[in-house]
Amino acid sequence: MPIDATLPYDEQNIFAKILRGDIPATRVYEDEWAIAIRDIAPQAPTHILVIPRGAYVSWDDFSTRGSEAEIAGFVRAVGAVARAEGLVEPGYRLLANIGAHGGQEVPHLHVHLFGGAPLGPMLA
Ligand code: IMP
Repeated sequence: MPIDATLPYDEQNIFAKILRGDIPATRVYEDEWAIAIRDIAPQAPTHILVIPRGAYVSWDDFSTRGSEAEIAGFVRAVGAVARAEGLVEPGYRLLANIGAHGGQEVPHLHVHLFGGAPLGPMLA
């Protein structure tokens, strides 16, 4: 069920629990600013979610309240994940769903990273 991205941050959302280590996930990357996990229902041979450590509901929330350091750190983390997964060449796709019309289901900002094969017109 897509979320209302203007709601306050919910500490019980699934990615908050993964960040705290309350529930397991396959972590493929982590640094000061972000973690990256394998999507539980992959839509491409490589389907990773890059999740900032800070408590932000959506891209809109992050881009308005996030510090310069958090934003830079997150953007660099996304790139680092793609490089670590060997996706830069031949390429990959980034996608963020925001709010109800964007189809966002988990109310903690995340970027989908797809790769590992030629991709169709849309995913996620
Ligand atoms: P959204 O629609 O952009 O919010 O996407 C949420 C994504 O999180 C979906 O692709 C789900 O498959 C994925 N997901 C949900 N729960 C988990 C989990 O526990 N581990 C890994 N991925 C998850």
